Amino acid sequence: MKPDDRPDTLETAAAVLSFDELGLNPTILGVLDDLGYEEPTPIQQAAIPLALTGSDVLGQAATGTGKTAAFALPLVHRLTTVQERSDAPSSLVLVPTRELAMQVSEAIHTYGQAADTRVLPVYGGQPIGRQLRRLARGVDVVVATPGRAIDHLSRGSLRLDELQTVVLDEADEMLDMGFAEELEAILSGVPESVQTMLFSATMPARITTLAGAHLTDPVRVTIEQDGPTAGNTPQIREVVYVVSRHHKLQALARVLDVEEPEAAIVFCRTRKDVDELTHTMNGRGYRAEALHGGMTQEQRDRVMGHLRSGATELLIATDVAARGLDIDALTHVINHSVPSAPESYVHRIGRVGRAGREGVAVTLVAPREHRALRTIERHTGRTMQIEPVPTVADLRAKRLEMIRASLREAMLIGEDLDSFRPVVESLGEEFDTVQMALAAIKLLHDETAGEGDDREVPTATLDRARGAATKGPSKQSGRTPRKPNSRLYGTADGGPGGDTTSIWISLGRDSGVRPKDLVGAIAGETSLQGRDVGSIQINARFSLVEVPTRAAQEVITALNRTRLRGNRGKARLDRVG
Ligand code: AMP
Repeated sequence: MKPDDRPDTLETAAAVLSFDELGLNPTILGVLDDLGYEEPTPIQQAAIPLALTGSDVLGQAATGTGKTAAFALPLVHRLTTVQERSDAPSSLVLVPTRELAMQVSEAIHTYGQAADTRVLPVYGGQPIGRQLRRLARGVDVVVATPGRAIDHLSRGSLRLDELQTVVLDEADEMLDMGFAEELEAILSGVPESVQTMLFSATMPARITTLAGAHLTDPVRVTIEQDGPTAGNTPQIREVVYVVSRHHKLQALARVLDVEEPEAAIVFCRTRKDVDELTHTMNGRGYRAEALHGGMTQEQRDRVMGHLRSGATELLIATDVAARGLDIDALTHVINHSVPSAPESYVHRIGRVGRAGREGVAVTLVAPREHRALRTIERHTGRTMQIEPVPTVADLRAKRLEMIRASLREAMLIGEDLDSFRPVVESLGEEFDTVQMALAAIKLLHDETAGEGDDREVPTATLDRARGAATKGPSKQSGRTPRKPNSRLYGTADGGPGGDTTSIWISLGRDSGVRPKDLVGAIAGETSLQGRDVGSIQINARFSLVEVPTRAAQEVITALNRTRLRGNRGKARLDRVG
């Protein structure tokens, strides 16, 4: 069987519906085309046709799956069908944080160009006067955090009487942040006939109860699949780097420089992303070529030929474009963003590690994409290692190693060296041989150095519902955010099930503590196993580790008795967690 004959769940699912077939207004299709979206993601394929029929929707999907468009496109579609607009909003989207309010508004603004959609983000911390004026002038879609929505309701500035759709986005996070009462209050004030869409990354009982109370005969859509995919796991080293969106390019360049792939494919979400990245990478001296869904077979073959001959080292592609390609030569797959479905991840990385060769799959994860990452881990049944982005020192070490190997090879082969002897001899009157060799190596090193090589790529932390470092202080959440400048490591096998408790330990990075030291100490000294240990955060002077609540005391006692990297520290319950 040829590798590309392998069954492919994504292709099967993706073959179901194209954007054209979802029932959206052609002007919206035009916008999506401009954005470079090639096909709807699984959650969009499932949710959009349903939403357009007016059904209530209960969607299980995390950030990174395309869920914003899944609810936003139907809202915008409805606006394209309305003759006369009212000043009162027709849609209300509730989101947990102000960052999300801004992001979702931006997305709706973009998708809504087709219908001149008037969208307003409404969140705490922003002067209310401006929001009042905008609301008074008339808005189609309000994207609000629950606290601020209540505030406007009590002032009478937010009207719910003409609402046609209510969306609860990241509902589990809203409940985790203590917004249950606010949600109840808002939902009890919406018209009977309203269409409600609830999206949540997880479906705990509290969410199904909320859905039971406020959704009418909802259709449930989910893109999650249970259990690991069976069968042959190819030999793939899977690495995850957490970087903010703004530093992805820098991280990609660093990864390429350190990994030095012979032939790599970089996956992007949209055609537009592919074009931009190809342009940028070529500008930075990489030999990159774009692969589009719209290219003819001949054009694709030509690009593949370039990759095989080494004329190109990087292919930059969308999922659609890379389908059916026979690319045995690939050494690296790089996910510029987390794929929108776990099947897509499996499919992408299945392109390396063939024929018994080791392949490398690198995924650049933005802080907010942590749940999509978890979904993939659950799907594959494997934990992905979150590693620090290679540092300037790593890059330098790699370069020096390459120089050392090249010099060694040149000396072993010894060809043509004699022609350079006069240079050595004339300099030899002034300098000693070691000095000369050092200067020559420095020149070689400087020759290979590129722009930005001396700058560290800032690391980010995974953004989680509780105590997320990237979320900033939120009055509504009432929680103290964790200190920035700490690193949050992924949990082993999706973390401990059930209740977890965060333990504070007085030793951190300054004492050389690494995640594996903590896991080792806990697994070695308590009844827990390594995989029971949840996320680990190593700060400069302290660390936090999540363990099952039932074993918290045992872990504290053990950590107070044990040395970590030769140091004795103090452990106690974390006050924040
Ligand atoms: P979300 O899960 O809504 O946060 O979306 C994640 C990212 O995927 C956003 O950057 C969107 O612009 C992008 N996106 C959403 N739908 C599609 C699609 N069908 N094709 C390509 N990119 C998409």
